[in-house]
Amino acid sequence: MAEQVFDYDLFVIGAGSGGVRASRIAASHGARVAVAEEYRIGGTCVIRGCVPKKLLVYGSHFAEELQDAANYGWTVEKMHFDWPTLRDAVLRDVDRLNAAYTTTLENNKVERFLERATIAGPNAVRLAGSGREVTARHILVATGAWPVMPDFPGNEHCITSNEVFHLEQLPRRVVIGGAGYIALEFAGIFNALGCHVTVVNRSETLLRGYDESLRDRLLQITMARGIEYKFNAPFERVEQRADGAFDVVLKGQPDPLCADAVLIATGRRPNTDGLGLENAGITLGARGEIPVDANGQTSCPSIHAVGDVTDRVQLTPIAIREGHALADRLFGGRQTTLDYDCIPSAVFSQPPLAGVGLTEAQAREAFGGNVKVYSSDFRPMKNIFAHRPERGLYKMIVDAATDRVLGIHMIGPEAPEILQAAAIAVKAGLTKADFDATVALHPSMAEELVLMR
Ligand code: FAD
Repeated sequence: MAEQVFDYDLFVIGAGSGGVRASRIAASHGARVAVAEEYRIGGTCVIRGCVPKKLLVYGSHFAEELQDAANYGWTVEKMHFDWPTLRDAVLRDVDRLNAAYTTTLENNKVERFLERATIAGPNAVRLAGSGREVTARHILVATGAWPVMPDFPGNEHCITSNEVFHLEQLPRRVVIGGAGYIALEFAGIFNALGCHVTVVNRSETLLRGYDESLRDRLLQITMARGIEYKFNAPFERVEQRADGAFDVVLKGQPDPLCADAVLIATGRRPNTDGLGLENAGITLGARGEIPVDANGQTSCPSIHAVGDVTDRVQLTPIAIREGHALADRLFGGRQTTLDYDCIPSAVFSQPPLAGVGLTEAQAREAFGGNVKVYSSDFRPMKNIFAHRPERGLYKMIVDAATDRVLGIHMIGPEAPEILQAAAIAVKAGLTKADFDATVALHPSMAEELVLMR
């Protein structure tokens, strides 16, 4: 029987972190590859996630630096912040990255379809714009995730992280729904830019999954910086006033909050609505995710999925690794098993926090009483000089039986930059004695890592 001929070896739906990497690597192995993107090439991280967010964090941080500058002898006259200038500069950088990602695909001879694509069958993709149907030996779904908008009256007045980068003006008062990393990062940005920020959460937990002592420290510092928190307060409704501002009514709270912008950051759901997965016999998981095996293969052998749409670890480096490994396996004859252990992550709040490995609570659950916790609660030199009372906190969780470091967690200036290097040691299984044997690099904040006794 003649082998079936396909238009492409690989058709990728979604040109984000995972999709672009898989396309480029598959093409470099000689596969005929096409990718469809319904919004902008680059995906969430580059267009409306990590990158523009981090640039806003940098932009807002000048408030603190400029305030502290006087201590160092600088006179800064007529300090003024202009939101459209920062916003447009960030959006220009997004355009630059969008062009760079497009060029990468072009250089690797990946055919691009700038339109929505859905699955028409195990080897068939329908292009929504042109109505064309194309065939592929393999299909990769890398459609990412989408912000969840809770259902309450007036939610049409609220924005999500998709819109926040495009705000016309800097809102004077911002209400942020949610207490995950995206909510707290924007709380930090708006607070530093001088807005009044209220974080509203339906439970009393913020930053689920991070070490409790760090979460407490962040709460304490950000409250001192002027961020207000309302816990156990789900949204009831949002109403627009005659002057354009919003009344945010919370369940169980007598007085509404007044806001010029309401940002909802209550989580992200896998982007699978209307994707046609049923045409290939694929059943979605409870959270709308695409179930896959360790190789990223769905229940339909010709269809694969990577990144946020699989709802495993929703982080850019994971989507990239999954996309890369899939392309290597399908077209490069190389089998890579991804290791999800000890993934470092950070919250670019102000101050930022970062962690790798087990938290104290997780370690105590796994190892019982056999856990040693070392910590350093210190006031960074920079803060002392600036008369800022804020203290950093580093924690090291150690397996008492083997001396192996199970986790490191830190909050303080530059914590994510410091943690990335420390994560190598945790991943490599180094011991507390290895840290102790390392000479401190003085004066630095990172030296606390080797001075915990
Ligand atoms: P995405 O990058 O989301 O790409 C999916 C692409 O598919 C999108 O471009 C979308 O338009 C397209 N698409 C969807 N459906 C279709 C369709 N049917 N047809 C055609 N195209 C389609 N991660 C970090 O590691 N560090 C951070 O600091 C960080 N900060 C973040 C901040 C924010 C505000 C947000 C929202 C996310 C952040 N993330 C961060 C998460 C990170 O952006 C994602 O984990 C990552 O982008 C996932 O990559 P992906 O390839 O799975 O999907």
